[in-house]
Amino acid sequence: MRWWPRSIRWQMLFGLALLEALSVCLFALLLIHLQRQEISQRAAHRLSHQADSLTEQIQEALLEQRSDLIGLSAHMMGGAPSVARARLTDPAGRTLFDSRSESAPLSSEELAQIPRIHGRDARVFSFASAEWESVKPIYKGADLYGYGWVLSDRAWDTEELSGTIRGTALFGLIWVIASSALVLLLARGISHPLAVLHRGTRALVSLPESSGNFPLPVTAQNEFGDLIAAFNRMVAAIEEQRAGLHDTLSLLDSMLANAPVGFAFFDRYSRFVRVNQVFADLTGIPLSRHLGRTPSELLPTDVSPQFEAALQSVFTDEEPVSDLEFHGAASNSPWTWLVSAYPVRTTPGQVRWAGVIIRDVSERVRSEEALRKTEKLAATGRLAASIAHEINNPLEGLTNLLFLLRKFCNLDAPALDYVAMAEHETRRIAEIAQKTLRFYRQSTLPVRARVVELVDSILDLYKARMHTLNIQVERRIDPHTTLFCYEGEIRQVLANLIGNAVDATAAGGRLLVRARRSRHWRDSQTVGVRLTIADTGTGMTPEVRSRIFEAFFTTKEATGTGLGLWVSQEIIQKHRGLVHVRSRAASGPQASGTVFQLFVPDDENLGARGRASGQ
Ligand code: ADP
Ligand code: MG
Repeated sequence: MRWWPRSIRWQMLFGLALLEALSVCLFALLLIHLQRQEISQRAAHRLSHQADSLTEQIQEALLEQRSDLIGLSAHMMGGAPSVARARLTDPAGRTLFDSRSESAPLSSEELAQIPRIHGRDARVFSFASAEWESVKPIYKGADLYGYGWVLSDRAWDTEELSGTIRGTALFGLIWVIASSALVLLLARGISHPLAVLHRGTRALVSLPESSGNFPLPVTAQNEFGDLIAAFNRMVAAIEEQRAGLHDTLSLLDSMLANAPVGFAFFDRYSRFVRVNQVFADLTGIPLSRHLGRTPSELLPTDVSPQFEAALQSVFTDEEPVSDLEFHGAASNSPWTWLVSAYPVRTTPGQVRWAGVIIRDVSERVRSEEALRKTEKLAATGRLAASIAHEINNPLEGLTNLLFLLRKFCNLDAPALDYVAMAEHETRRIAEIAQKTLRFYRQSTLPVRARVVELVDSILDLYKARMHTLNIQVERRIDPHTTLFCYEGEIRQVLANLIGNAVDATAAGGRLLVRARRSRHWRDSQTVGVRLTIADTGTGMTPEVRSRIFEAFFTTKEATGTGLGLWVSQEIIQKHRGLVHVRSRAASGPQASGTVFQLFVPDDENLGARGRASGQ
């Protein structure tokens, strides 16, 4: 309906005006109809009376033979205020007398009434457009003299009717105007708060950041006022939620930006939707160039198929995959990535993205490799040193024997030459042995080291593995404790012991590392550091326990070297320390575990004495 107004105010106004106009019209119609009926009844009554009186006067004039009175009667009747014309006709309808100056013959409709007149009664009829007229026969004795006609004055009758119509119209107009004013007032009470709400909603949608428009003014003290107040409360709540959301987003953003691991999110088609700087650093491609691309476009070709397969498995199985190791090499230095991927659901039951966490563990892998190498080197060193040490005694015997051979066995010249050659070679062997020993003993110099740093450097190394196994680490170390020692070697010992503990501990186990100043168990004069490494792992049977310090003894088959504890013991002995082991391999509900306790004396003369004593 194009003509129907859009605003409530005009709708109410228009609707009301329409309704009122309709009802006033109906009322007026009814009134006019009733009045018309009444008017026509009255007119009929009046006309029949007027016809009676006209004919009576004329009949009297006829009886008295006063023809002058006949015309006068008709003329007087014609002059009456409700009469338009009075006429006298003969029985055939020819006009004998007319109250109007220009007389006119009867119309055909009037003539048609003559046969319908019954006896001496007056007949009232209407003809043409609402003309009313009465006709009555005039008798002169028993003879029909003619007819008297009285035509009603229409204006006389309709005057009253038009008065009624005017009154009704005036009343209707006043009524419509008054009620429109009231409606306008009421509509303002509705449309104003609605307009306020409308403006508020638009402001909320179009300018979500501006809070200057709120709270909206509560302009009405009715339900609309309550509505605006409720709207204000809702806006405040939205504002609060928005702030919360904003906080959460900033938190997430800062987490993404500052987390020391690479983060990336992918859609179903393996396209990057979000990525952080660490990830971009790993791929070596600017952050902005990731979005919308796939791993095969950005990652090294040796890992991208594996990577995409992991993503697709997250989408199809809806299960996380964790700690996949990806290896590759960039400009000749090998790298290792630890990749975990997990489904991100925005609605329950539908995986929208796959989140990926990448950690560059190349450094750790390299350190582990280095550790294994030093363990092997240390073992080889010790092996060489013990061989050198062991051959020293027989070598001395050999030198003595050669001396005796030369002195007391009268040898001939060629034999003496051979003895000299043997002495020469023996000296060379002794020299090699000495050099080997010296190299092994003096490869590093002792320094004062902070114990907490020593321990932490090793715990860092195993952090990832312990995290994967969910091993709880308890670390009780006084941060000020220092120790004068061969730092690298003590680190080697710690690495062996902690490594063994992690090897033995199942998922969910615990590891305790404790270090504190202490005195020697047997000699209370000697101060040093006591280190405890305890685990809740498998423990050892007494048979295993008795053999752990033997070289090449291992229970780890392929992965073990059996050299760790052998080297460790040697290092502790070199520091004049002690190793103590307690272990229980429990089957059943009893707790099992191993406790290694070390005492390392804090001796400033460590290197000097070692060198002085020639060891
Ligand atoms: P490897 O670790 O290469 O086997 P080690 O000399 O370090 O060599 O250890 C020798 C053996 O001692 C191990 O194979 C293991 O059986 C046992 N062992 C050492 N530490 C522990 C421990 N914390 N818990 C249980 N067994 C241990
Ligand atoms: Mg070991």
